[in-house]
Amino acid sequence: MSKSPEEEHPQKALGWAARDNSGTLSPFHFSRRENGDDDVTIKILYCGVCHSDLHTVRNDWGFTRYPVVPGHEIVGVATKVGNNVTKFKAGGRVGVGVMVGSCKTCECCQQDLENYCPRVIFTYNSHNPDGTINYGGYSDMIVVDQRYVVRFPDNLPMDAGAPLLCAGITVYSPMKYYGMTEAGKHLGVAGLGGLGHVAVKIGKAFGLKVTVISSSPSKESEAINRLGADSFLVSSDPSKMKSAIGTMDYIIDTVSAVHPLLPLLTLLKVNGKLVTVGLPNKPLELPIFPLVLGRKLVGGSDVGGMKETQEMLDFCAKHNISADIELIRIDDINTAMERLAKSDVRYRFVIDVANSLSQ
Ligand SMILES: [Zn+2]
Ligand SMILES: [Zn+2]
Repeated sequence: MSKSPEEEHPQKALGWAARDNSGTLSPFHFSRRENGDDDVTIKILYCGVCHSDLHTVRNDWGFTRYPVVPGHEIVGVATKVGNNVTKFKAGGRVGVGVMVGSCKTCECCQQDLENYCPRVIFTYNSHNPDGTINYGGYSDMIVVDQRYVVRFPDNLPMDAGAPLLCAGITVYSPMKYYGMTEAGKHLGVAGLGGLGHVAVKIGKAFGLKVTVISSSPSKESEAINRLGADSFLVSSDPSKMKSAIGTMDYIIDTVSAVHPLLPLLTLLKVNGKLVTVGLPNKPLELPIFPLVLGRKLVGGSDVGGMKETQEMLDFCAKHNISADIELIRIDDINTAMERLAKSDVRYRFVIDVANSLSQ
């Protein structure tokens, strides 16, 4: 007979789990492995609420294994470090993002691109090396191999900085990889949610001119006054879209709903680049004419490797970039999920884990 989640491992933990595709979360007792030689045991203080968490608890993608404890924007303090751990000390501020393991030997792992490793182990709803299902950051503690732990800079707020571990690296990595960081160039950010609002801030820190492209005219003043965008383009306004044709060097497309690419591609200059980081649940149509006639590029990108995640956090610390958040108690998570489903959040919920989750 298989063991209960509480009996599988020696370290006892408490989290909030969804048991079925209603997605409703409630307290869940389980266990974590003993801290091994390469491991860091972390007391979780804050955990961001990512759109992936919502999709997973509701089984929107069809591969959720219940019970599921979501959460992959984790910030906390190391409480134990193994004998081989050199990068971290007990008491240090640390972060964990979307992955907690990979093969360490493939071409991707050797190039610090663990996020593209075919054997990547995601932070939750993935298999531990011993075959058990792992649990994420809506919980009081976690045990992670040091390779997948990052130093959390002292001057970054631990609550508002948590979303950088997924949302931040998701937009930072493609900007670096695709060469979208040249100061003075013009970046369009399509979609102003959890990812988009961080993209605006990172774009400004690189010295780019940033235009938010959004279907919600109501977000204009926030985009400009609060987030620091240079301009705002209402995607549903044909005359404004027409006047912006051929003005942008780069676009980061964070929209996760099915949407036409043609209007975005026409905004690009010759040699322009469009990178998609949202994950619509159906294929998008790819208009070839503007690509060929303008030597334009369409690419994709999925989070970033551990080395780059550290680089991104240090960059954000240097430029005082964090997410705009609504801090919630764990008891409020079900309401927060309902609101997230309606995009009713400015711009990320973060759970105050240490102050609201207790035995
Ligand atoms: Zn995420
Ligand atoms: Zn690998």
